[in-house]
Amino acid sequence: MVKDNNGQYEIGGIGIASLVEKYGSPLYIYDTAIIRRQYERLIKAFENTRLDIHYACKALNNINIMRYICGLGAGLDAVSIQEVQLGFKAGFDPKRIIYTSNSVSVLEYEQAIETGVHVNIDNLYVLKQIGDKYGDSVPVSIRINPHIMGGGHLKISTGHADSKFGISRHRIPDILEIVKTCGMKVSGLHMHTGSDILDIDVFLKGAEVMFDVARHFPNLQFLDFGSGFKVPYKPDDYATDIELLGSLLTQRFNDFCKEYGKELTLKFEPGKFLVSQAGYLAAKVNVMKQTASTVFASVDTGLNHLIRPMFYDAYHHIINASNPNGTPHVYTVAGYICETDTFAKDREISEITVGDILVFQNAGAYGMTMASNYNARPRPAEVMLRDGKDYLIRKRETLDDLLRNQVDIA
Ligand SMILES: *Cc1c(COP(=O)(O)O)cnc(C)c1O
Repeated sequence: MVKDNNGQYEIGGIGIASLVEKYGSPLYIYDTAIIRRQYERLIKAFENTRLDIHYACKALNNINIMRYICGLGAGLDAVSIQEVQLGFKAGFDPKRIIYTSNSVSVLEYEQAIETGVHVNIDNLYVLKQIGDKYGDSVPVSIRINPHIMGGGHLKISTGHADSKFGISRHRIPDILEIVKTCGMKVSGLHMHTGSDILDIDVFLKGAEVMFDVARHFPNLQFLDFGSGFKVPYKPDDYATDIELLGSLLTQRFNDFCKEYGKELTLKFEPGKFLVSQAGYLAAKVNVMKQTASTVFASVDTGLNHLIRPMFYDAYHHIINASNPNGTPHVYTVAGYICETDTFAKDREISEITVGDILVFQNAGAYGMTMASNYNARPRPAEVMLRDGKDYLIRKRETLDDLLRNQVDIA
């Protein structure tokens, strides 16, 4: 988001106020130029090895966004059979889709296999069932739990010893036993240690664990390092140094491939890195209220549309698009839900009055996909900006949508 010549905020060359006027409030806005920039950054950082990017679409699964990312050349990381089906609708080739689910039934793995996507298995029980049924006819990959603590918040750390994700790196003998008995082909190994990982040592340590494990599997084609790249949330915030990670990991990876005797592919599955900064949630200020110590600015959205601040204590930078050059004051920005849904506490924002449009930044990932109808509120519309044009890619919900599957037995 930048200011235009008149000092007004715009996204992708289009004024925020005009978008809200056209599509209403609250509104999710996605700028594809930023998705492309992030994608190209990652490609460039790993240009000296065989990189393959799979977009983790649970971050943002509007099929237009998925189709755009497919068009950039990415594959897909799907965590449910429904995400696989969305992937097909968006144009992804089954061969470019990795299905990495957790705690799902063997039946769902079988459904995924029938569609031709690659399955990544994260527990010994399913490994055995799939091995018994398919033997060597379906190559699989295995999600390893590296026992590494990483991530910006315990709720988004997935690779520590007590996490429900993956098969412990200490259970390799059990994996090998099943693979051997069933004659399975293991074509890849996978790990994903969490989200918002700033420290590139976490990735490098994870890589060493993967290399150790990989020595036990002679038929690998790829190592998948998952994701978890941290993006900047505040103006001057730290973020994962992708360029440095690219050069360090490329070197280690290429060395390992020499030792392994084969040119493996290095995979990542970024969600947040590709779409977080591309997305904005614009909302209108309904009410201003002053208490003994706080000035509240209350908006026409809440934890039903953007739950990350309440769920993960996530920071979302907020700007006042209606008063871009005003004097900053301290505000607490709260939602309209009947819960304490505070977006930001005691935050400096340029002077706010009723009717102003506030914009939450970094709302592209885990914003709309985590939205709900709590308090019987419809979910917002979504708009995609591409080449200087705006496209409505999801209509605002209505009362009819809320009633659609209710069965009235009166
Ligand atoms: C959620 C998830 C990702 C994406 O994580 P980000 O932090 O959004 O990049 C990648 N891989 C798997 C298996 C995931 O569950």
